[in-house]
Amino acid sequence: MRVVVGHLYPDYLNIYADRGNMAVLAGRAAWRGIELEIRPIGMGDPLRPGEHDLLYVGGGQDREQALVAPDLAARADALEEALAGGAAALAVCGGYQLFGRFYRDRAGVELPGAGVFDLETIAGERRMIGDVLLECELEPGERRTVAGFENHAGRTILGPGARPLGRVVAGFGNDGESGFEGCRRGRALGTYLHGPLFPRNPWLADWLLAQALGHALGGEPPELAPLPDELEREAHEVSAERARARGGRFD
Ligand code: GLN
Repeated sequence: MRVVVGHLYPDYLNIYADRGNMAVLAGRAAWRGIELEIRPIGMGDPLRPGEHDLLYVGGGQDREQALVAPDLAARADALEEALAGGAAALAVCGGYQLFGRFYRDRAGVELPGAGVFDLETIAGERRMIGDVLLECELEPGERRTVAGFENHAGRTILGPGARPLGRVVAGFGNDGESGFEGCRRGRALGTYLHGPLFPRNPWLADWLLAQALGHALGGEPPELAPLPDELEREAHEVSAERARARGGRFD
């Protein structure tokens, strides 16, 4: 079994070790005998809908976002076709903002987005920084928690067509007010959570890996064999504790 990942702008959008999510995904795939091929997609590189089972994009400062935004916006149709075709996706922070319609940065410049998520983001005065804990229900009746770290000026407003990724238990989330974080559109997820995300949330890495495999196999996501995640669970608990203790406060 093989999964093809398209990693958008790995040289521009990669802060707080977002690249680490790919290393974790490759390891969790290999431990189950699944080959994970990561194909970087840089400025002007082709993005052929259907070629990738999973699309990934990390976060970045306003400056890097401004450099990639026109190139990403020009891919709106291809990205839309890929997601409509059942490809999985994970967009983190600055990448998450640019999967929406636009990000208006702290200078008031509106950076165009790909518009595959029904949302808009406007930078505020104060950065929202700290540990975050969410409660998610990606599968009906299966409540899970996600722990991570956020650092963003952007306030994201979800449109009527967008579902949040989760409810904020501790932290700021999309805008520090709505009580929600991230966005979900079928197999595609957006989030402000860095860290990177996957080492302390192995269930989420497995959920996306299974969605990507479902796309590769042209069917439902398969059940993945469990892995011994003691260390990951401990890391999750430490992160969750920090979020409960001090998440969501402006210093
Ligand atoms: N530059 C964006 C913001 O400040 C995204 C930051 C990030 O990716 N961490 O909101």
